[in-house]
Amino acid sequence: MRSSVHFIFTAVLAAALSPFFGWGALVMFLSGWLIDADHFLLWVVTRRNFNVGKFYRHHMVESQKTGYHTEDGNLHIAHTAEFLALAVIAAFFHPLALVFLIGLLAHYALDAIWLAAVPRRIILNHSIIWWIVVNKIRKRA
Ligand SMILES: [Zn+2]
Repeated sequence: MRSSVHFIFTAVLAAALSPFFGWGALVMFLSGWLIDADHFLLWVVTRRNFNVGKFYRHHMVESQKTGYHTEDGNLHIAHTAEFLALAVIAAFFHPLALVFLIGLLAHYALDAIWLAAVPRRIILNHSIIWWIVVNKIRKRA
């Protein structure tokens, strides 16, 4: 999903819910929009490259040309079941964690719509544990 769509959707959602959450809506907006920073984190770790322009071109142009197969099996840490579980647990302990969770769920919903409409398949590994297991199996083979 394009970052601009996340930006617009979560900005509208945060504005609509700001009467209930006050400035906490800003946390919702930031979690709904910027959680994709984990894509850049993976880029930096795997390619040892901090060039945001190359990263953006890879994701928006080159990846699209391959039908997003360049993303197959990638692990984006904030898009995993374990990250979601931590966010849910944290939401029970602090109101800002709850608004963070709402923004995160809005982000996941938009990603799910994009996955169903554009590549029409699951691209990423959605579990850190599963990713570790699969990679250990691949190394043995
Ligand atoms: Zn995302």
